[in-house]
Amino acid sequence: MFGTSGIRGRVSEEITPELFFRIGSAIGKDVVVGRDTRKTSFMLESALIAGILCSGHDVSSVGIAPTPTVALAAKKRKEYGAVITASHNPPEYNGLKIVDGLGKEISREEERRISALAEKGVYYASYEKVGDFEVVDNAVDEHIDTALSFVDVEKIEKKKPLVVIDCGNGAGSVITPYVLRKAGCRVLSVNSEVSGYFNRQLEPTENSLQEMRSVVVSSGADIGIGHDGDADRAVAVDERGEMIGLDRQLALMCRRVLRNSSGKIITTVEASLCVREAVEDAGGKIEITPVGSVRIAERLLEKGGIFGGEPCGEYIFPNEILVPDGVLTALKLVEMVCEEGKASKLKSEIRAYPIKREKYPCRKKEEAMEKIVSEIEVFEGEVNREDGIRIDEDGWWMLIRPSGTEPVIRLTCEAKDKKKLEEIFGKADRIVRRCCLESGGAGGG
Ligand code: MG
Repeated sequence: MFGTSGIRGRVSEEITPELFFRIGSAIGKDVVVGRDTRKTSFMLESALIAGILCSGHDVSSVGIAPTPTVALAAKKRKEYGAVITASHNPPEYNGLKIVDGLGKEISREEERRISALAEKGVYYASYEKVGDFEVVDNAVDEHIDTALSFVDVEKIEKKKPLVVIDCGNGAGSVITPYVLRKAGCRVLSVNSEVSGYFNRQLEPTENSLQEMRSVVVSSGADIGIGHDGDADRAVAVDERGEMIGLDRQLALMCRRVLRNSSGKIITTVEASLCVREAVEDAGGKIEITPVGSVRIAERLLEKGGIFGGEPCGEYIFPNEILVPDGVLTALKLVEMVCEEGKASKLKSEIRAYPIKREKYPCRKKEEAMEKIVSEIEVFEGEVNREDGIRIDEDGWWMLIRPSGTEPVIRLTCEAKDKKKLEEIFGKADRIVRRCCLESGGAGGG
């Protein structure tokens, strides 16, 4: 049932009210429940709530709210939290994320426990033991106050930056325009009304943020920010309406965090050279985990890291909460521009290097990966085997990793100069291509 980030699938196919009813009854804890703005979210939320109540546990319902808002409310109450959302996936999808009383996504073992119980059937408590239901109407206000306490509001108020926010008609619509205004920004909102439908694709990309980018230019704004559907991501564009770039944005945030504190920065095997450089230049240490914000959160807890980020725009500020918080990230990006200068100038301070990506069809991914790992040893460098294989050497790195959702293996190479990139990419490409072909390729045989 659970994938790399909770439960996800197509509504009325993998995702049904019946499934959510079973899962609700299997959680076995009091739960803070929230949902994103999808038309199907209320239906699934109702089923989940019925399941929780009928198993004899209480529900605190926060209504429409971003994932970090629900996680924060759960942490505050030391209860589990559940969010009905499919994050950046298209409208026909929906899903569920569950967090524990620390505000961190639940562990794999806990997911397995819940799945096993849900498969067994539903536990019906006797009528006098059925859970209590309460509406919580201040979770968004709590999140606003908490997020504001992590930035220098005075500095933002003094600059009164003009900010364009694009919530993609997702859950961020109920909080981010308001928290920015409260911080002293002048705010223009794009796609920030809640209708159950979406004016743009929910993944914040150069393409999906086109409308927001043109409003940034025409209004003369200082920065534009776009969320995904559950507002755990925030992606910025500069005052010219151009993307800062996901790698550069992460590098800038790492640099900024390290200005005010010291400690470990956690990122994933997908992080690019500019992130490592920014951290090392600022005197910090970087540690790499498998892909997924859950893995970053676990490593942050384990190592006492000060910041964790994935290149997709999901950043965890562990003193606040252990899930990515796009709302706080938006505030932090605005604060950065107020304090450090124009967004385009900041962008130019981070050097981006040439990068090459390829994907190879492969039916037997595990078998192919085994062959690749033994052959790829021709490359010397620091090897990380936590998620696929990553090799780091002075001036370049590569990652070979099976896709979590498709029958393909992906190769990524980045190097400081183009010649080196061509050389390592060419060599790796030949190995991966052959191993994938030997392990079934695209199929048919
Ligand atoms: Mg998301």
